[in-house]
Amino acid sequence: MATLLIVDDQQLNIQTLVAGLSSTNFTIYSTTRATQTLMMAEELQPDLILLDVMMPELNGFEVCKRLKTSPTTADIPVIFVTALYEQVDKLRGLEVGGEDYITKPYAVDEVAARIRVHLALREKRLEVEKLRRQDLAYFERLNQIRDEILDQMKHDLKSPLSSIKISLHLITRLCGSADPSVIRHISRADAAVNEISHVIETLVEIAKLETGRSTQFRYVEILPLVQQAVQLFETSAEAKNITLKLHQENLKLKQTVYVDPDQIASVLRNLIGNAIKYTEAGGHVTVTSQFESNVLQLEVTDTGHGIAQENLGRIFQRMYRIPSEQDIVEGTGLGLYIVKSIVDSHGGEIRVASEVGRGSTFTVLFPQPEPAGV
Ligand code: ADP
Repeated sequence: MATLLIVDDQQLNIQTLVAGLSSTNFTIYSTTRATQTLMMAEELQPDLILLDVMMPELNGFEVCKRLKTSPTTADIPVIFVTALYEQVDKLRGLEVGGEDYITKPYAVDEVAARIRVHLALREKRLEVEKLRRQDLAYFERLNQIRDEILDQMKHDLKSPLSSIKISLHLITRLCGSADPSVIRHISRADAAVNEISHVIETLVEIAKLETGRSTQFRYVEILPLVQQAVQLFETSAEAKNITLKLHQENLKLKQTVYVDPDQIASVLRNLIGNAIKYTEAGGHVTVTSQFESNVLQLEVTDTGHGIAQENLGRIFQRMYRIPSEQDIVEGTGLGLYIVKSIVDSHGGEIRVASEVGRGSTFTVLFPQPEPAGV
């Protein structure tokens, strides 16, 4: 059974309405004190409020505004009641959140019908809201399950992979000066294991980035972060006879930045990894980090294959690989997509300049909060 609250400074008006609605099965509460409306609505939680506009203590619009700003009463529909001779700004009533107007003198049947319409609408609204909340909880749970499966998969696949790696290492040692072709096969198998590990890491990283829940900002020293990322590639650069250099410009020794350090490390890993991957022996890769005008700038330049202008707009797309590179260099087409997602989650910017046959420069910019006290 629906509950109504009637607010009117004239007791007679309330009595007329109550009498008119007596054939309905509404439970009706009333007050002649506009100032009591909010308190009564909070306590009674009526399904609908009939609110007189012209009242001496507080006008109906003001009462409605208060109802709509209180979280416990905001959802209760309000129908304004005005007399035909009262000059009322109806637009204002709708602006403060009122649902409808009834003008006196009224036909009680019409009032009852309008009340029913608004009650039905409210019920539907609450139903939709409930479904929306259920959907959100459902999606949240699905994401959680997906993360759990991915973490489990990562764990279950990584342990046998590390066993394979250790075994390959032992076989290399046992073989000693065996046939070079055996060693070549072993090192190929080792590279394949590395590639699988990389793909697993990438898939888990993407899943977490796409649910938008993985970015965890904190203040960190940038220099060690960049140095570690460069160090990671020293061996592979050397093996390919590529010089890998780090430049620091305008960076104080203990310069801190506000970023997600794991994600910045991932950006650097992907950009430096690509630079080495797409550069031939004898080439150069340079990583530059600088901090200027409150922007952290990281730049990776190579003297590699370069990228044709027509492909520049597509390389950040999920799983896009330049067709001419596909058969020559291993890859997933996900690295730059990850970089772009991370840059976006930091409110940053990514730029690329490239020339086929001469090389590429990828620049990522991370704006930083103003230093305190400036
Ligand atoms: P992947 O390297 O796994 O294919 P990415 O998303 O990292 O995927 O890169 C997308 C494509 O952009 C690559 O396939 C490659 O063709 C091109 N690319 C990326 N970085 C470079 C680079 N430094 N030099 C030349 N081409 C690059």
